[in-house]
Amino acid sequence: MTNLLGEELLIATHNKGKLEEISALLVGYDIKISSAKDYNLIEPAETENTFVGNARIKAHAASKSTGLPALSDDSGVEVDALNNLPGVYTADWAEVDGGRDFNKAMEKVLYELNSIKASFPRTARFCCTLCLAWPDGSDKIFSGVVPGEIIWPMRGKNGHGYDPIFQPEGQNLTFGEMDRWEKNNMSHRAKAFEKFLRYLDG
Ligand code: IMP
Repeated sequence: MTNLLGEELLIATHNKGKLEEISALLVGYDIKISSAKDYNLIEPAETENTFVGNARIKAHAASKSTGLPALSDDSGVEVDALNNLPGVYTADWAEVDGGRDFNKAMEKVLYELNSIKASFPRTARFCCTLCLAWPDGSDKIFSGVVPGEIIWPMRGKNGHGYDPIFQPEGQNLTFGEMDRWEKNNMSHRAKAFEKFLRYLDG
């Protein structure tokens, strides 16, 4: 099966922010979107050390559990001065008892940069890898990257995750200050989606 139009596509994420962005990026396509929550899927452990590896784990687990094609998103921010951390550990830096605290995660980025007296601009990139897994066990990978810098203090209340401290290259606004349309026009996720949508369009 290679055609998704008219089909149900399971978005293999428990992350509300990602789900909202992905749903907006798929508006206008004849695809019935469902989420990991709709099927009470458990979050598999992300045991790989690459975005591709973890994206594959999530998409295949969801497709296997439901028999549906599943699309996962593994993403994160790589900070040059921190040797590309937090990278695949971006969500882990937000872990606190009982959930995730992204203010704490953003403060940790600042703390780590300050403790090595990192110079300015504090260049970084957001990376997104999408994996589309089919029930027959095959898959397809689509990736997108957006360069930018880590800024402080945090700016903006839109978006999710680390959006308030990431300013894309050539922009005056952080992702947290942009509305969904602006962010979805240039983000790492939008770039990966461009490739995914081109694939859908054949
Ligand atoms: P994972 O892909 O589930 O491992 O989590 C990636 C983490 O990266 C998310 O929990 C967010 O904190 C962060 N992240 C990914 N994409 C974005 C984005 O577009 N804006 C802000 N943070 C993001």
